[in-house]
Order: sequence, then C-alpha cells, then structure tokens
Amino acid sequence: RAGSLDRSTRGSTTTLNSDEDNINVVVRIRPLNEKERSCGDREILEFPGKGQIVCDTGTPGQKPKVFSYNVVFESLATQEDVLEYSGVKRLLEMAIEGFSCTAFCYGQTGSGKTHTLTGPPGLVESGASPYAPDHGLVVRSFVYLFQLIKERPECHFILKASFLEIYNEKVIDLLNPGTARKPLQVRWSKESRSFYVENLFMVDCEELDDLFAVLEEGMRNRSVGSHAMNTNSSRSHTVLCVRVRRDLRASADISCSTHGKINFVDLAGSEMTKKTQSSGKTLEEANNINRSLMVLGYCIAQLSDGKKRGHIPYRDSKLTKLLADSLAGNGVTLMIACIAPTRSNVSETINTLRYAARAKKIKSKPIVKMDARDALIMSLKREVEALQAENQHL
Ligand code: ADP
Ligand code: MG
Repeated sequence: RAGSLDRSTRGSTTTLNSDEDNINVVVRIRPLNEKERSCGDREILEFPGKGQIVCDTGTPGQKPKVFSYNVVFESLATQEDVLEYSGVKRLLEMAIEGFSCTAFCYGQTGSGKTHTLTGPPGLVESGASPYAPDHGLVVRSFVYLFQLIKERPECHFILKASFLEIYNEKVIDLLNPGTARKPLQVRWSKESRSFYVENLFMVDCEELDDLFAVLEEGMRNRSVGSHAMNTNSSRSHTVLCVRVRRDLRASADISCSTHGKINFVDLAGSEMTKKTQSSGKTLEEANNINRSLMVLGYCIAQLSDGKKRGHIPYRDSKLTKLLADSLAGNGVTLMIACIAPTRSNVSETINTLRYAARAKKIKSKPIVKMDARDALIMSLKREVEALQAENQHL
C-alpha cells in the first residue's frame, strides 16, 4: 500500500504520511457559511501542503501556529474524497478481518461533524437513495463494506447494526426510543473482555438497504426525541455500530470465525469540554455538562503520553467504555477533526487542532480478537497459504 499520496490541487486532499499507526488523524475544514460571508469574517488558515495547517492566531506579535496531520481536507474536498483519503476504507477492511474500529468526528458545534458523517441535514431521513451524491462517510462506508463482502465469496458474513445516543451519561437506544425513559446499562463482558450495552437492539443486516434503514430510523428518532424532550443535539454523542462476524472455512471439517466491528461516532460539540472546565466543577459534578467528552480527552492524553503512560480512565464514562477496545490497541481509530475557517472561531479551532495533534501521538499495535483455537487455525491456514504461494513460484 502506498504510504504517500499527494493531490495538491488547492481545495482538495493533501498528504497521507503513514497508515501503520493505530490512530489516523485527519482534519476537515468546512466552507464559509452565509453568515460569515455576509459579515466579512476573515479566513485565517493556510495550507502549505504535506498535511500542514498554518493558523493565524490574530494576536499581534504572535507567530502563526503550524500543525501537521495525516491528511487535510480543505473546504472544497468532497464527501467522496473523505471516503477515499481519510483511511476509513482501511478500517472497514480491518473490521471484516476481526478488528475493533472506530471513526469519530470531533469539533465545535457547526464545524461539520454531522455533515461529514451523514451529509446535509435531513438527507438520510428524506429516504434518498443510498447512492445519492451528498451522502456522508457512513452511507459510503456501508456501500464499500458490501463491496468488500462480495469480493470474498469463500467467507460467510453476518452483520448486525445498532445505533445509540449518549445524553447526560444516559444511553438511549435510537432504534427503540422508548428507552429514553429507562436508559440502558453498560456492562463488562468477561467472555469477550469488552464493554457492551445491555438490551441494545441489534438489527440483522443482510443487504445495503438494511444498514441504510438502521441509519434512517435512528436519525429520525434522534430528531423526534430531541424535540420532544427539548434536549440539545450538540450535547449528545451518537454511536452507530456495525458488528461483522466472519466464518471462514479452513478445511472441509474445520471452520473458524472472527468478530470485528466499526463504530461511527458523532461527538458532542467540543465547546462543551470548555464549559465543563470553566464552571470549576469536579469530574463527578460535570455529569450534567459532558463527562464522556472530557474523559475521552483524558484517555487520549494518557494514551499519547509515550513516556509516563499511566492509568487510562476508560471506565469513567459511558462513551470511553464503549470505545475502549478500539482505542486501547485491539483496534484502529480514525479521528476526523472538523474546523471552521474563520477568525470568529479561532479559539475553538486552535483547541481542536491541539486535541487532534495529541491524538496523533497515540501508538500501539492493533490485534484481532479470537479465541485460542480459532487463532491457531488461522495461523496454520496462513502458513499453508504462504507455503502454497512459495510452491507456485518454484
Ligand atoms: P456539527 O455537526 O459539527 O454541529 P454540521 O455538520 O451540522 O455541524 O454543519 C453545520 C452546517 O454547515 C450544516 O448546515 C452543514 O450542512 C454545513 N456544512 C458543514 N460542513 C460542510 C461541508 N464540508 N460542505 C458544505 N456544507 C457543510
Ligand atoms: Mg451535529
């Protein structure tokens, strides 16, 4: 796989440095909106190439800040560009091999998180075809996932999807909105050594339309729910999870399976963390503002501190419990940091760019989850394949 990609035409993707890390950090800049245009808000970002962003802080005498990432999507980049160059395809390829993967969007409210994941407001709920041109990363990933599966007729795949929202540290099933009154519990499974949501609705998805219907239903319930309860969607996180079980025939009478998954996470607006901190509350008291977002920040800070990696507080929030297996190194994570291009957003933009730079430092090797017997069969099968390939060359 090529390690470097350069489409340096302005307004498009720039550089991809490495796809070896278990976390890939990309940045997407949204275009100026009407309001910013009409009041003459100034653009403060420059893109010299090679994944760099130069940000003019606007403070007299202060040098512009320079950041660098795996890929930068400038404002003219398309939804298709994000699918092709964000590295999400690698996550999907790994999910079907048995890894735990997560793609999450981070950024202030209005920076383009939901647009990046699910397209313009109302598109999915309008019942548009899964091939409509404006769809975001989620629907495009579904299409790619089924393409991958078709290319592997020797394996049998079982897909199950779930869709939940975390609001105020309460887990609500977006496919069974009645749980808003009685939120679901997050529990530890000894067997799979990971956290799971008890009684979460899982939908069997045999084809693309089934996955699409899960997304549509969940998004519809989310907007109905937020009106009914007068909640603010910029304060909640959504997690759409596709579990992929793959059954592989090793020989006529032996088969083994892998269990992978991919989470698509639309996070609460990142300005929420600041509100929490500036209120001077302790973590315990911060519940009402946004505990999950804060703890995710703590986990990333700990994971990225190569020297003194201490205790990682996954257990301190619902969101980090659910993402632990992909962040912890069994899996692969894609962070899409979303930012606005203008002066009026400078402090949130710098916060997001810093957060993203910290996440980029996380290093650990992904591993596939299998039971011991299956792992042995798989390694033997790989050995046989390698020997066969060698034989063919002789
Ligand atoms: P967030 O989810 O981060 O709060 P949204 O995704 O809702 O932000 O984006 C705010 C507005 O900006 C929406 O109307 C959205 O369609 C628009 N927008 C965001 N990113 C883009 C983009 N890359 N291209 C065109 N419009 C965008
Ligand atoms: Mg949003």
